Order: sequence, then C-alpha cells, then structure tokens
Amino acid sequence: MASKKADAIVASRGATKALPEHTRQVNRSLILRTLFRSEAKSRADLARATGLTRVSVSRIVDDLTAEGLVRESGPSPEGRVGKPSTLIALNPDAYHVVTLDLSAYAELSGAIMNLDGEVVHSTSVPTDGARGAALLTKVCALASALVKRSTVRVLGVGVGSPGVVNDDGVVREAVAFEWHDLDVAAAISAVVPVPVHVANDANAAALAARTYGQPGVDNLALVRIGQGIGSGVIVGGTLVTGDRFTAGEIGHVLVDESGEVCRCGRRGCLEVVAAVPYIRKRLAEPGAQPQEILTRAGHALGRVLTPVVAALGLEQVVLSGPLDVVGGVFLEETRAAIAREALAIITDDVEIRVAVRGDDIVLLGGTALVVAEELGIR
Ligand SMILES: [Zn+2]
Repeated sequence: MASKKADAIVASRGATKALPEHTRQVNRSLILRTLFRSEAKSRADLARATGLTRVSVSRIVDDLTAEGLVRESGPSPEGRVGKPSTLIALNPDAYHVVTLDLSAYAELSGAIMNLDGEVVHSTSVPTDGARGAALLTKVCALASALVKRSTVRVLGVGVGSPGVVNDDGVVREAVAFEWHDLDVAAAISAVVPVPVHVANDANAAALAARTYGQPGVDNLALVRIGQGIGSGVIVGGTLVTGDRFTAGEIGHVLVDESGEVCRCGRRGCLEVVAAVPYIRKRLAEPGAQPQEILTRAGHALGRVLTPVVAALGLEQVVLSGPLDVVGGVFLEETRAAIAREALAIITDDVEIRVAVRGDDIVLLGGTALVVAEELGIR
C-alpha cells in the first residue's frame, strides 16, 4: 500500500508543478514511516520499500540526517557482494514529546516520551477538584513545566481529554470538567513554543494501539473501561471520529431495560453494568459473586461490540482498564459473546485482548498523536 501511494506521487510529479512542498513532505513521511519501529535499512532497501527513486531517497535521508531524525547505524551485514552499504535508522531521541492524560479526574498525568514511546520522565498533579477555567490553568501549567523540563527539543504537546473533542483541539463538551466549547489546544499553545494536539482520551488510546501496538493492524477498536466506557475506532488505518466527533461513544448504549439508573439519567446503560466504579461497588457488597458480576459485565460489552466488529470488519479489539477487572473472566466473556453473536467468518480471526500498556495508554496516545501530526508517522 505504501509503495502504491509513493508511485502515485512520483508519477504525478511530472504532470503538475503544484505543491512540490507537499510532495516533499509526503515522501519524507513515507521514509520516516518505513524506518519507524523497524530495523535499520540501506538507501537501496528504502527505495525498494517506498517505491521512491534512489536519488529521492538519498536527498531525503540527507535532510533527515541533518535534522538528526535519522542516523547511520553502521554497514549492512556481510553476505552481499561488493562494498557494504550504510544502514540508516530512525533516531528515537531526535525529539521528545510532552504528553498529558486528563482522564483520571482526581489528577492530571504528564510525561516526556521519546519517539518510540519510551517514558523519559513522568509526573502527576492533583486537580484538587478544580473545574472549568481553573482546571484549564492547571493543564497549561503542567504542559509548560514539562516542555521546559525536557533536555531534548520537543516535537509537540499531545493531550488526551475526556469528552467530545473536535479536529482543532476544542473540547466541545466534557461534562465532569464543566468544559463547553473550550479551545484547550489554543490555551496550551499560548504557553508553549511548540505545536499542540488534543484528542478524546479513547481516541488517543486507539492511536497508541495502532502506532505502538502490533504492526500492520489497520482495523481495530480500543475500549477504555474506566470511570465510564468509551472507545476509539480505527478503520483502514484512519481514526474514525464521525460527523460530530462522537464516534466510539458506546458507554450509554442500552443493555438492560430494568438496570440501574445511569449518570446520564437513563436506565440500564452499558456503563452501569461494565464501568469500573459500578463493578467495584458490586464486588464490595456482602456475599458478592465476583464470577457472576464480571461475566455479566464482559457479556454486556461483547454484545455491544459485536455489531461494531461485524459492521466494520475489525481485526482486533483491545480492552484497556484495571487488570483485576478486565483481565480474566471479563475478557473471556467479552470474547465469548462476540464469538457467539456473529458468524464465525466475521469473528474467527478477530483478536480480543487486553492492552499491553493499559496504565499509560492515553499518555502513549498523546505521543502517537504528535508523531502522526508532526512527522506523518501513522
Ligand atoms: Zn447512561
């Protein structure tokens, strides 16, 4: 797929003089994407992998070397005839990324990560119940402090926020924060000298699963099971946000007409059956049957996800949440429900698993967001 795209760009070069800068950017991203989380490659390998000419590859590699984004990693292994060619690798510490996770309510988490998503520094600050503008001030202060702290130049700031977030980083609605049409990206941009990108927390987590998870998975859902339940959906390698930026909002799908009243005011939403506070409350009741509680929760989630998996042809469903809740019976029952409720041809190959970095997946998502927007690695 990558090489087809490159061919199209190479082919269009002669036909139009429009946007040479754009072509340069796309080809640069193509090289970066090919080197990202991959073994070192020679210039000839890169030309083969991308469909670009050797001359183009050399020119782009020279530019990237000058910028420090790639480096020579020694001669290629023996076994080839002639002069060994030099191997090129991405330098994951060429830039660092500042990333924030606002989804924990009681605290704000922040980290500095390298381009491979490795944590260089992490911190958290209590929100002390702050809401509205006061909370935004705390968010801006944390972003600014982390950018200042970084000893490596910062590529950008990435933020995962609860609520409905549009393409411009405006939080349309985050009820618990009392944020309505709040331009969070602009507020942070005013205090840091680098680009700022903001996404819904589940969408950020989905980007993390796509960018830093198993390579080559283009169709996946990442489901966050926390205070509420939300998901991020990636189809054909692209995050699906929908017309109103609410795609993946599955938490208030009705699963039990006679169920408990939900915080949204309706009765029997998925959240009251399967979100963490409700599960923990039930587990703490005298005579609680953990097996039964977790089975019911996993089953409800599986039933809500089945049409999503079937309609979109997903390859992977990743659950992210506290392992003691989502790790065992919950996961198995989600898996079983999906297998039971759709044709085998749809669900046979679908991998349903728990996120590898569940604890900091939103922070990792903030990094994935910046790496995608600033370097075109997605
Ligand atoms: Zn609800």
